[in-house]
Amino acid sequence: MPFTTFGLSPALLKALADQNYSQPYPIQQEVIPAILKKRDVLGIAKTGSGKTAGYVLPILMNLQGKTITKNRHVNVLVLVPTRELAMQVSEVFITFGSSFPERIKTLAVFGGVSINPQMMALQNVNILVATPGRLLELVESKAVHLSGIETLVLDEADKMLNMGFREEMSLIFKLLPKKRQNLLFSATLNDDVSRINQILLENPVVIKIEEEDNTFDLISQVGYFVSEENKGPLLRYLIKNSDMKQVLVFTSSVYKADNVADKLRKNGIKATAMHSKKSQGARTEALNKFKSGELRVLVATDLISRGIDIQFLPYVINYELPRSPKDYIHRIGRTGRAESPGEAISLISPEDKQHFRVIQKKMGKWVTMIDSENINLQGF
Ligand code: AMP
Repeated sequence: MPFTTFGLSPALLKALADQNYSQPYPIQQEVIPAILKKRDVLGIAKTGSGKTAGYVLPILMNLQGKTITKNRHVNVLVLVPTRELAMQVSEVFITFGSSFPERIKTLAVFGGVSINPQMMALQNVNILVATPGRLLELVESKAVHLSGIETLVLDEADKMLNMGFREEMSLIFKLLPKKRQNLLFSATLNDDVSRINQILLENPVVIKIEEEDNTFDLISQVGYFVSEENKGPLLRYLIKNSDMKQVLVFTSSVYKADNVADKLRKNGIKATAMHSKKSQGARTEALNKFKSGELRVLVATDLISRGIDIQFLPYVINYELPRSPKDYIHRIGRTGRAESPGEAISLISPEDKQHFRVIQKKMGKWVTMIDSENINLQGF
């Protein structure tokens, strides 16, 4: 089924062609018609499924002819868990929205940066992409009113709940008008997400995209048995020996992320750490440099393991394992997306062995293990 069957405007079809979107992804085939019909949607799909364009395209279509808003009222509210996802989603709205003849203004707002520029920018906004805490601050200071919202999107709802935004979300729900369209997207359907579904959604179209298996097929996974003190040399050996050009390395603490990045730089490998203690500006800069290829290695904590779309990322290395198997799956989901194969490598110390077994069992897939004892790490 091509994009032309949905009744999207010629301008949008051209924008899709410009972005090299030739065929709708499975989730888009189901979500786009439902949203165009103004139905509520419960979408169980993870990042990488194409869910963003799945809701962005029909929302833009539905907005046509309604873009004049009352002062500081917005038409569409997208709630997201992180600043990175806020920026990423707003970029998709801007990319496709700019093809429309009428002006559609999208703004991303999030905490960790000064609120004043966001307050000023909230004039005549149609689509607001926000993290819950900062949105409430902006509402309190009357920089934005939510009573005119026609469509509410909760993106990565499970993550938003996991990050402790429950209370903020309930406060926001109370500020919304009764009659509106609700779109709820989540990687998992846990009890909390089901509850929101029951409270918020009216007779939703339920769409479940089970594509983790396909994704796993695209990712070749390898584990290296290595002592804790040899993890650093092994990491540098792997990067240099396989001439890896773009590597996302995960650590479990901010301290470790800084430490690993530091040692890589000392060994002549361009690397930066990205975590919650870095300023928003530094995070954006690091991500942009990494995406453009200027930066070879990004060392990150789980903060960015979900929601960040880096196309064709060939390597993910777990310097340390995440605590939950779900996080492992999300981490390695950074690679092997959009039909490009990727490699996920985990450095397994003797203490990690048992935990890695649990992760593999949960994932339903056994990972090839290599003993690093046979690798000569001298000089790395
Ligand atoms: P998402 O799950 O929304 O983060 O999207 C994952 C990636 O797929 C993004 O890089 C999108 O640009 C890309 N994408 C989404 N839909 C399509 C499509 N129909 N054709 C090609 N690429 C797409």
